Amino acid sequence: MSAPLLEVGRLNKVFETKKGRVHALHNIDLAIKEGEFITVIGPSGCGKSTLLKIAAGLDTDYEGEVRLSGEKVTGPGIDKGFIFQEPRLFPWLTVEKNIAADLSLKKPEVRQKVDNLIELVKLTGFEKAYPRELSGGMAQRVSIARALLRNPKILLLDEPFGALDAFTRAHMQEVLLDIWQANKTTMVFVTHDIDEAIFLANRVVILKPRPGAIKNIIPVDLPFPRKKASTSFQEIRYKILSEFEKLDELELVESAGI
Ligand code: ADP
Ligand code: MG
Repeated sequence: MSAPLLEVGRLNKVFETKKGRVHALHNIDLAIKEGEFITVIGPSGCGKSTLLKIAAGLDTDYEGEVRLSGEKVTGPGIDKGFIFQEPRLFPWLTVEKNIAADLSLKKPEVRQKVDNLIELVKLTGFEKAYPRELSGGMAQRVSIARALLRNPKILLLDEPFGALDAFTRAHMQEVLLDIWQANKTTMVFVTHDIDEAIFLANRVVILKPRPGAIKNIIPVDLPFPRKKASTSFQEIRYKILSEFEKLDELELVESAGI
């Protein structure tokens, strides 16, 4: 078997705060293969963003191992793309300039790449538009295109569609799957929407809170395109829901002091 692209081993993260220590992640072990689409799901505060930031090299203050292509992650870099919930575009730059970032569109190879990305994220015709002229979904597509410009090995997305309405969100899921199928970029996608987690993923990682730890990893062996109303989809949904129900029972037992 080939070596994993992203390897997380015995990862622990503690935040020291004025109110005390928060053990945000506990002994996380996760190996992600090249080309895989992983979704990470779990209740608020269970450490999803912390895990993603560490994988992206945005937080290097942790214990354990985090490796990308066998090399220790020591900081952010062009091999790792990160998408936040809000698009974070430069309001004074057009769509194409936001995507090109610090590269010059006068260079033919940059122009070509940006044009291809604009087509890939379905924004043809909006090259010269400004962020204020875009809907939330379009703006997030610009930020995805920008993250893809330098061909990252991995794209880490932290609830990227969380602020969008249900219809836009469903459309964005399809666009993202098209991008994944076209580019084969490895994806790690955080969400707290169970349907979204199943619709996109090869495997769904379920986190539990206090401290954040992996509860289970559910493979999703359904062919694409997936139908959310299909029986096989619903079966996986029940499986994941039952994991959360077990989690609630556990919490009830803990809070009752049993
Ligand atoms: P999620 O993304 O799953 O909602 P987070 O990763 O943001 O969870 O947070 C996990 C835990 O770590 C929470 O208890 C949160 O309060 C705590 N935490 C996150 N960031 C910090 C920080 N910068 N300082 C202190 N505690 C933090
Ligand atoms: Mg979060």
